[in-house]
Amino acid sequence: MKFEVTILGNNSAFPAYGRFPTSQVVNYDDHLYMIDCGEGTQIRLSKFRIKRSRIDHIFISHLHGDHVFGLPGLLNSYAHMGRTKPMHIYGPKGIRMLIDTVLRLSSSIVSYEILYKELDHTDRIKLFESNSLRVYSFPMKHRVPTYGYLFEERRERVKVRKEAIEKYDLSIADIRAIKAGQEHITVEGVQMKTGELLIRTPRRSYAFCSDTSFDPDLVKWIHGVDLLYHEATFLHELEDKAIFSKHSTALQAGMIARLAEVEKLIIGHFSSRYKNIRPLVEEARESFPEVEAAEEGKTFSIG
Ligand SMILES: [Zn+2]
Repeated sequence: MKFEVTILGNNSAFPAYGRFPTSQVVNYDDHLYMIDCGEGTQIRLSKFRIKRSRIDHIFISHLHGDHVFGLPGLLNSYAHMGRTKPMHIYGPKGIRMLIDTVLRLSSSIVSYEILYKELDHTDRIKLFESNSLRVYSFPMKHRVPTYGYLFEERRERVKVRKEAIEKYDLSIADIRAIKAGQEHITVEGVQMKTGELLIRTPRRSYAFCSDTSFDPDLVKWIHGVDLLYHEATFLHELEDKAIFSKHSTALQAGMIARLAEVEKLIIGHFSSRYKNIRPLVEEARESFPEVEAAEEGKTFSIG
């Protein structure tokens, strides 16, 4: 089952060097979930050919403009396109007033219902659940109330071994029955145990952490995720600026990934002072080896 994240915007504060402010789309089994919606998100959705009609849930980390100023425009476009199904929006307290005010004062006619869930909590809470996926929010330390998001599969995945399918010439119906726990009898009459035919892989997960100060308290909520996105606004030589503005350095992003024992780290929210983002990646690798830049247009598979 598909579980991946596509980066739409990776810059902080304002567009620079062709980079756009923060936005991402998580694709789980062809259901799309947007995280943050900075200015230019609609342009990126078109450029990267993402089917915006499949987005029914938008998760906003905080109300700084570089994470939310694209949202009124996107919601307005949905109305122009004749959307009728509801849109669920999650974000810190105030998100409803921000969006409703812009839409009302601009006389935007919204053809569908917007359902808000405003966040005001100090622990990790479950926000959303489908048959196969759960999304949690957890608080981060920034200059305004800010939340990270954790996307986690509900169950471990079970697959029939490829070698078994070939060896016993298993049909689709056989595979289904084996996955449902039935024992399989081969044409020679040998009874196979399901354990010999199945592979179980752990639940996959993705955590989004932006914007935040360096905060080892985060680790308890994101421990062991397959993929972690963590902001890396500055190089560590500007640690003072990071402390003052409640952001993280690339080195610190790597430290959080190491403490949380994640599989892989992607860094983003790059300061507009950096034309070249390679030094940020190299610095994060000093703390944690598996790092990539959250390049716009790039899709990262999870697990
Ligand atoms: Zn911010």
